[in-house]
Amino acid sequence: MGDQPLKATLTQVHQNDSPDHTQESHQTDGLHAMRIIIANENTNHTLFIEALLHRSGFRNTQMIANGKELISELNQSLQLQQEEIDLVLISSTLDTNWQTLCKRINQSHVWRDIPLILIASDPEWFEASAKQAFNCGITDVIYTPLRPAHFSPRIYSALLLKKERTIRMINRQAIETELAERKVIDARLQHLVNHDDLTGLYSRRRLVKALSKALSLSIKTDQTVSLLHIDIDQFKVINDLEGHQAGDQLLVNIANLLRDFIDNDKTIARTSSDEYSILIKNDTPEAALSFSEKIRRAMKKFVFSIDDRVYNIGVSIGLAITIKGENISASEMLARADQACFVAKKHGRNMVHQYDNQDREIHQLRDEAFWAPKIKDALNNSRFCLMFQPIINLKTSQIEHYEALIRMYDDNNELISPDVFIPVAERIGMIHDIDNWVIKQAINALKQLPENKSYVSLNINLSSHAFHDPGLLQRIKDALAESQIEGKRITFEITETAAIENYEQTREMIIKLRELGCSFALDDFGVGFNSFSYLKKFPVDYLKIDGSFITNLVNDEVDQALVKSMVEISKTLGKKTVAEFVESEEILKMIKSYGIDYAQGYYIGKPGSEFEGIESVSFCPSP
Ligand code: C2E
Ligand code: CA
Ligand code: CA
Repeated sequence: MGDQPLKATLTQVHQNDSPDHTQESHQTDGLHAMRIIIANENTNHTLFIEALLHRSGFRNTQMIANGKELISELNQSLQLQQEEIDLVLISSTLDTNWQTLCKRINQSHVWRDIPLILIASDPEWFEASAKQAFNCGITDVIYTPLRPAHFSPRIYSALLLKKERTIRMINRQAIETELAERKVIDARLQHLVNHDDLTGLYSRRRLVKALSKALSLSIKTDQTVSLLHIDIDQFKVINDLEGHQAGDQLLVNIANLLRDFIDNDKTIARTSSDEYSILIKNDTPEAALSFSEKIRRAMKKFVFSIDDRVYNIGVSIGLAITIKGENISASEMLARADQACFVAKKHGRNMVHQYDNQDREIHQLRDEAFWAPKIKDALNNSRFCLMFQPIINLKTSQIEHYEALIRMYDDNNELISPDVFIPVAERIGMIHDIDNWVIKQAINALKQLPENKSYVSLNINLSSHAFHDPGLLQRIKDALAESQIEGKRITFEITETAAIENYEQTREMIIKLRELGCSFALDDFGVGFNSFSYLKKFPVDYLKIDGSFITNLVNDEVDQALVKSMVEISKTLGKKTVAEFVESEEILKMIKSYGIDYAQGYYIGKPGSEFEGIESVSFCPSP
């Protein structure tokens, strides 16, 4: 580009145009600070362009005299993590071939978001090669002579384009990170969830999958499916007498023994601590029964020795067999085998019992008949009580929450765990009364705290059935209004599985309760591993990482990786994390280093009847 086309001169620019003081709108906020490179071999031209830019308020400019220098500058801004380049004004007469240069910039995934404006001197020539220029990545072409009135709008629009591209890039990166994280955690959890760490056998979850598949196939092929539920008779004794290590060894030995009986038509899994299941496909009921007997006999012969002590091991086996063409679910099949095993144990252990319809009824009815009057009595005669377990903020070490945990007194005034009576209460429809009782008592407990503890809030567990109760919301509203306790002092805990089961209903209810100021925590997080996509849409404030990931954290690398991923995911989603089952100082230190926000567990404090050390406020009075 010669001097000729550049009609305006530096003096003209300064004399003719007073500085542009137009107010910046929101959209143009920050544009004036963006970094512009003027790549032009002619110093006079460069100075002129710079003056034009300064006049319009663009002060962050840099002059570059040749193509080599431009590439080196782009490289430096990348390597030295300097301020990024936001716009390049490139002269069509730059020493290097501008097409090659622009292509190079455009093809680099790190530079291609930088808009390139070509300052061209010959419109006619350019007309012919316009297509080619845009193919090289040019965003805009400005012809000389440059007119101030035309120049600055083009700069604005190029910088706006850059701003938009940057935002898009940040969003794209966030999505990519999120997807990558999700893939990692899903893969890790898949493995964890599909296998039992100790024995290497399939987990319960994996068995359920195989069972579901076999059941649906059996309808089409008119085959029967059989399921064995194997329970070790003396496991608890050995575990208690010889310790956990011996208990673990026994579980591994039995797994190895059972493995020898498995062929292509059978799937074996460890389904809970001392229970195994075997799924049999393509076999007759008679063959399944005789297979079960074979296992029982083999186990009867098996002896477990530790030092000079020898234990005879026996198993009780429950066997469930479908009737040809029967359409039942995997969970129903598991329940049948479990109930049959219960009967086998009742009949004196070391035996096989084949499920028949009466087994379940007997089992459940016995359970319900036993617990229903007790639950009713507990509600009517104050035989429930709440215990409170502290949750500390790991940054301040201060107790900010307490989780309210229900207990029931039995006839001997011993405390009974909710794990025993809550499932029955859910089955017989008494859970709503329990949920209501807990909410009322918890709010009552808060009311009795002194003023200076008004930052303390309570975590209340809601059963998976809670949101089926149409009156729940109003009752919570009334209880809060009556007690004048602010909603923000209550965090409701719901399990991930329950939340996902009634996804829409739960979501709506959460939104309404949050409008009252209440918070939400997703309990037992990590167990229902495939919930990441739901989680993004779920308006919860806290994720409570399930205790099973925390208890062995110090020694278990898989758990460490999982917990770290869960923390990363929570952070991405803007949610706080809580670790439960913090049972030692080592665990506490570790979770703190992972950036977990809150901790709960026996090391910090066991569930107790006193709340905030105020002994007069006891919600577990002796009956
Ligand atoms: P969750 O909500 O996961 O509660 C945590 C359980 O872990 C509690 O058992 C608690 O005592 C126990 N725990 C706390 N710290 C540690 C620790 O460091 N190590 C170990 N091993 N355990 C720890 P809890 O009180 O027996 O409650 C069992 C489950 O019963 C609860 O699990 C919750 O799902 C349910 N539950 C408890 N209270 C209520 C209630 O008021 N309403 C409803 N619907 N369910 C409740
Ligand atoms: Ca809980
Ligand atoms: Ca939990």
